[in-house]
Amino acid sequence: MAITENHTQTVAGWAAMNESGKVEPFVFKRRENGVDDVTIKVLYCGMCHTDLHFMKNHWDITMYPVVPGHEITGVVTSVGANVSGFKAGDRVGVGCIVEACLDCDHCRHSDENYCDKLVLTYNGILSDGSVTYGGYSEMLVVHKKFVARIPDTLPLDAAAPLLCAGITVYSPMRRHGMVKAGGSLGVVGLGGLGHIAVKFGKAFGLRVTVVSTSPDKEKEAREGLKADDFIVSTDKKQMQAKSRSLDYIIDTVPVKHSLGPLLELLKVDGVLALVAAPDQPIELPSFPLIFGRRTISGSITGSMKETQEMLDLCGEHNITCDIELVSTNGINGALARLARNDVRYRFVIDIAGDSN
Ligand code: NAP
Ligand code: ZN
Repeated sequence: MAITENHTQTVAGWAAMNESGKVEPFVFKRRENGVDDVTIKVLYCGMCHTDLHFMKNHWDITMYPVVPGHEITGVVTSVGANVSGFKAGDRVGVGCIVEACLDCDHCRHSDENYCDKLVLTYNGILSDGSVTYGGYSEMLVVHKKFVARIPDTLPLDAAAPLLCAGITVYSPMRRHGMVKAGGSLGVVGLGGLGHIAVKFGKAFGLRVTVVSTSPDKEKEAREGLKADDFIVSTDKKQMQAKSRSLDYIIDTVPVKHSLGPLLELLKVDGVLALVAAPDQPIELPSFPLIFGRRTISGSITGSMKETQEMLDLCGEHNITCDIELVSTNGINGALARLARNDVRYRFVIDIAGDSN
């Protein structure tokens, strides 16, 4: 069968055609709903900085046209014969991954985000040879394994960024013990990922310090997000005054920077979890690492098990994202603002147009 023979469903979406950082309307095909698939009417899609990295070909791996979007919430419209966990009308979400081998050690141990056959929600190539298109589109067909349930208490718009920003910070927080009350966490970069890390840190009982390039975010960080402390990272005196004060750091800065001054903020044996993906190599001077016996750890999104656990926890504790809802006509304006670090704290696209 030709790769796209069963790609019979016409879908309207928005795609980047080149490195301009803009999208335009784009009509494409998705596969029919297979026996293991769930078809979802997309209602909301968050705008992650990763969308910009891909759209602008920062990593030199973009396949145009690229339909971005991996912070997707919506409603199930149909399910395949082998799907028992979802039914039409269910409120669901899809994050960064839409396929993995489901057979390797990682997949069998609910660690499928480290499967080497991992396929991303957009700009990926599925095992049937077709290219994946993301959530800046009106509907999605996804294997049941990669669909999460959104708790009834969470609004679908403010929950959408949990599917990437939320799980991306939750996974390393859990892995490195940041869920234990009493520790101190530094969140570097108060954007989409960063603001959720602050909320999770507070919910877990940590003392949270925001490390930011934007002094104008201090008031809202302390008052709105309940951060305990705020350091301007470009102010050497402020940084030195907080030397060896933190147990953990989550670094979300999407541009080239040095880890040296951040590592100095960590106590001996502290852990820096790097989740950001700048297009240029990050600087790593060795002295702050070796003199503090510190650890740097990387992390890519989270597993579906962790994603559901995180969503349920957000449902219980009423944790949602601080969003600016934009209409589909406003996508390009929002992308431009995201690129110049002007968002509080996540743009979410109202795909189905309720707010248009
Ligand atoms: P974002 O909303 O744009 O936030 C990034 C923050 O970094 C900004 O709010 C800003 O905070 C700080 N920053 C410092 N210098 C900056 C500059 N020159 N331009 C823009 N921001 C600057 O980004 P995000 O969506 O949170 O994503 C952050 C990074 O994580 C990206 O590289 C993204 O690709 C990556 N990511 C990785 C994963 C993963 O699985 N590992 C998943 C999602 C995203 P201050 O104003 O406080 O300094
Ligand atoms: Zn993302």
